[in-house]
Amino acid sequence: MSQAHEIAAFGLELVQAYRRTSASRELLREVQARRLRAVLDAASRTRFYGGKPLRHLRDVEPVRKAQYQARLDDTFTDKQLSKAALLAFVHGGGAPGALLFDRYLVATTSGTTGHVGVFVDDVAGWSRQRAVVFARMFQGMLTAEGFAMLARRRYRLAFVIASGGHWLTSILAGRMPTLGRAFADSRIVPVDAPLPTVVRELNAFQPLLLHSYPTFLEVLCAEARKGALRIDPEIVSAGSEPLSLACREAVRATFPKARLVETYAATECLAMATSCPHGAVHVNEDACMLEPVDDRLEPVAPGVEASRVLVTNLSNVVQPLVRYELTDSVSVDDAPCPCGSAMARIKVRGRTDDTFFLVDGQGRAQAHPPIPIEVAFLGVPGLLQYQLVHEAQNRLRLSFVADEGAPPGDVAAGLDARLTRYLKDHGLLEHVGYLVEQIDAVERHAKSKKLRQIESRVARPPGEVVAAIEARR
Ligand SMILES: [Zn+2]
Repeated sequence: MSQAHEIAAFGLELVQAYRRTSASRELLREVQARRLRAVLDAASRTRFYGGKPLRHLRDVEPVRKAQYQARLDDTFTDKQLSKAALLAFVHGGGAPGALLFDRYLVATTSGTTGHVGVFVDDVAGWSRQRAVVFARMFQGMLTAEGFAMLARRRYRLAFVIASGGHWLTSILAGRMPTLGRAFADSRIVPVDAPLPTVVRELNAFQPLLLHSYPTFLEVLCAEARKGALRIDPEIVSAGSEPLSLACREAVRATFPKARLVETYAATECLAMATSCPHGAVHVNEDACMLEPVDDRLEPVAPGVEASRVLVTNLSNVVQPLVRYELTDSVSVDDAPCPCGSAMARIKVRGRTDDTFFLVDGQGRAQAHPPIPIEVAFLGVPGLLQYQLVHEAQNRLRLSFVADEGAPPGDVAAGLDARLTRYLKDHGLLEHVGYLVEQIDAVERHAKSKKLRQIESRVARPPGEVVAAIEARR
């Protein structure tokens, strides 16, 4: 595929996706049905999904991750593609964003949960997914005609992310120079570069859109408050990790004029959901279909929090992904949003893997999802960042980085008091041991550079699990 085709696919979808943001539900259904037909048609040509006519979504059984990766060679519609070819390409040192067979982009998952997945799509498919994300980020900021102006303005985008490697953000940022000539000026700043280097590059570039991981946005906000980082972004976008309350507060206080955009993406499908100007996260119904399900992959009622979600990618006809399981905990809300979008709203909780299961005095396992724990640590004076790890059953390690000039002893005491109160409120103080320690920097995943702020390394105990009582405050 030529670069002209790639740019055309991106530009056309950008304008149309921007218009669809305010389209009626009927129109969205039409677009979705048309795209689903193309994907099901492609799926029926693969050995994985094929063998029977596929007319409706319900003609396809839900698919587990492991099941899909075990039969990777059966998932492609192009006979040139094979697991061996993809792995040879990924391990052969091809630059992220380089093309396989002159038309395909290959992405691997970073394996933060232990399973590495490999996915492929052509540049047109990726371009359409990305165009949807950008269209939603700019919701309400431009007239459709204004995109021409946007191009002339050469919108400056900075991605402070893990560079190198074949994971999604790195590949997409790596493809930006191609698109950039038409639409924007984009730059990758490696998240693991020394902080003064990151700050210097951002100051020189003056991005209008700043994208990073929530935990790193917090660090950048602290640099801005100190006066070291001097940028004035219009959009701050966060992805790859759950958007913590601490990050939300920090961005609001530091860049009050900027729109904070939350993106929900996976390597399997880039444009799953994006937040609107009202802060609601809308499913990008023109790019994917999401079905909330329980552990047995059975549908859950609307509004009920599901432990998993099935995703159908509506642009990939190279490696169709239909009703594919993601282990994210979501709930869907169909009620209208004041922003005018007819697309369903979704709440994405921290990954189900990061719910803490703490055993109380009666021997019951209490489920503690990340958000109430985050609330407990909001606003500790002098706290820059923390990481809470459930490292053995009923044993927690709370590591923290103190802000410059803040006495670490005071920060430790503040955190200790919050954690003590949280455990006491849940009747766990005598049953859970913990350590509070100061560190120089929080440790990121060696490859993906993602950080799990709240991480459980303890398996869910067998037997009945009770919900933790809401903390009293
Ligand atoms: Zn909305």
